[in-house]
Amino acid sequence: MTILMDSTSILFGGPGKSSDAAASPDVKAAYSARNEELVPLGVHGTFVAVDWDSCIADGSCLPACPVNVFQWYRTENDVPAVDMSNTVSSGNGNAGKEDRIDYTDKSDPIREKDCIWCMACVTVCPTKAIKVEQHQIGIIQLPFSVCVSKGF
Ligand code: SF4
Repeated sequence: MTILMDSTSILFGGPGKSSDAAASPDVKAAYSARNEELVPLGVHGTFVAVDWDSCIADGSCLPACPVNVFQWYRTENDVPAVDMSNTVSSGNGNAGKEDRIDYTDKSDPIREKDCIWCMACVTVCPTKAIKVEQHQIGIIQLPFSVCVSKGF
């Protein structure tokens, strides 16, 4: 048995500062316009991990990626980010720098399995919200027996 993890539902410790999104005027205004509460969101992705509390919807990571790992999550499923763990994304969202729905949108590493470890996204992100760790790839497809024995 193999455990396959959806990149939109995995939470890891975040590399960024939790205050970046909450301190952004654009992000705060967008949440206010939607009447949505700005709450902690955690990290989305595994070996390409985007800290959604640090992501300010700048969008630089999307065109920087040579293999199109990222999409704006709301352009496929326009739901509050806290509900994404109950939502299945197929990867048909928009991926242009300015294609965000608004500044509540987040960069979702929906195709992280395609990552070629170039680190362009890490370099270009203004809030250092993205962490890429090749050694984490093993977590994606551990045999179930190993997951149990390791306590995952
Ligand atoms: S490290 Fe390179 S290939 Fe991997 S997600 Fe970032 S930009 Fe894309």
